[in-house]
Amino acid sequence: MSNPFIVKNINLFCSYIYNFPTNQDCTFCRFHLNESSLSNQEKCVDSTVVTGFCGHSFHNDCMKLWIKQSNFCPLCSEKWEYLPINYEKTILDESTQSYDDKIKEIKLELKKLEIHVNK
Ligand SMILES: [Zn+2]
Ligand SMILES: [Zn+2]
Repeated sequence: MSNPFIVKNINLFCSYIYNFPTNQDCTFCRFHLNESSLSNQEKCVDSTVVTGFCGHSFHNDCMKLWIKQSNFCPLCSEKWEYLPINYEKTILDESTQSYDDKIKEIKLELKKLEIHVNK
């Protein structure tokens, strides 16, 4: 008879890189959109990324400053309207593993644990 086995705590770590529809760099601060904006890097804060209906993406904090002065996309001059997508940057480690691969790996680990417990 095997002992009852309860998973009390699992820590999941994953990392991924976004592919933005049109531009990969922020026009305002010139940093890659997968990195934080210049001003946020100085503050050690992660940036989120916003995309407009025109398909161009920028750091949210950079866009917020721009939108105070202009209602138009700085790249294509179309009227700026936010797409309801907010890219939250979640890069916890340097691995390039995809999210699906990571989940598969975790399931495999759990299987191993099960086998161990059932012995
Ligand atoms: Zn920026
Ligand atoms: Zn645009």
